[in-house]
Amino acid sequence: MKIKAAVVNEKGAPFEIKDDVELSELQPDDLQVHMVASGICHSDEALKKGDAVIGYPIILGHEGSGIVEKVGSEVKNFKPGDHVVLSFYGCGSCVNCLKGVPTQCLNYAANNLSGVRPDGSAHFTENGKQVADMFDQSSFTTTTVVRERNAVKVPKDIDLRKLGPLGCGYVTGSGTVLNTLKPKPGQTIAVFGTGAVGLAAMMAGRISGCTKVIGIDIVDSRLDLAKELGATDVINSKNVDDVVAKVKELTNGLGVDFAVDSTGITSVMEDSIKVLAQGGTTATIAVTPNHIDLDTWNDLCVDDRKIVGVNMGDSIPQIDIPRLIEFYKMGMFDFDKTEKFYKFEDINQANEDSKSGKTIKPVLIIDDSYQPE
Ligand SMILES: [Zn+2]
Ligand SMILES: [Zn+2]
Repeated sequence: MKIKAAVVNEKGAPFEIKDDVELSELQPDDLQVHMVASGICHSDEALKKGDAVIGYPIILGHEGSGIVEKVGSEVKNFKPGDHVVLSFYGCGSCVNCLKGVPTQCLNYAANNLSGVRPDGSAHFTENGKQVADMFDQSSFTTTTVVRERNAVKVPKDIDLRKLGPLGCGYVTGSGTVLNTLKPKPGQTIAVFGTGAVGLAAMMAGRISGCTKVIGIDIVDSRLDLAKELGATDVINSKNVDDVVAKVKELTNGLGVDFAVDSTGITSVMEDSIKVLAQGGTTATIAVTPNHIDLDTWNDLCVDDRKIVGVNMGDSIPQIDIPRLIEFYKMGMFDFDKTEKFYKFEDINQANEDSKSGKTIKPVLIIDDSYQPE
């Protein structure tokens, strides 16, 4: 069937909305999903400008929310009409998926970043020419097909337009804290960067019962939002001489038990180690080409500190996303305060506003006839 999609024709080119893209046939374990909305993530921009090349032309988007239209013959858990959020694919049968860690799926790259369907066929074509996909999802489309394992059923009584970013940015930030760092009540955490990922990490710090949740950024308006969402303290690093000293001052000279770096900036990643108390752990989770200078003895060993990398918040989307929605309903995870809606046609503006930091989480409204129940 023909669909409308935002295509990036070559490295760095703008999104071009086309209505002659051909969607591939439904396979037995596929859902056909009518897209209602999609978040825009910094990883979309990274692929658009060629940092991690899948190939061009490509249809990006991996924070989609939509309604199931059709199901393949082997689909067990979904039916037409179900509301879904789309996320990454874990194969379910490799050793890491069997251990319950689908973010370490041995087939992750082949399934999510190969640009084609799992059997190697084209997900999309235009005039007979293959158009690459992202995450086997490509949510910048009016309709897509995804495997059942890419989808998470969500309740129908919540505005579906808001929910797509739960599939990547929010699950990454919150999962890093709830699944990986696992602070105990009364412990402390500092989060560098107050984008969607950083704010989700802060909200998760609050959910975990951290008594200090310190948000660090250079934009006052974002720090105000961080306070509204759960930061107990904020630091504008432009206004202080020494961020590390300031964090220690806020924690009785000890430093924090946990830190999260969502910025990917070399000096900031290094600070995220220096702010740690003895025995502390920092998680560096930004998609970044930058490196850090690490003195393993003095930075880590002497004070028994740890640095960990985390992919997609160590999440199991089918468990984590419904849990985040429950926290949202309880007023403990107000992720929607970071969102701003844009028309699908304004995708280039929305992406620019994300890049400039004007909008924390742009959400494209793909079906403007959708009304929340
Ligand atoms: Zn993403
Ligand atoms: Zn697997």
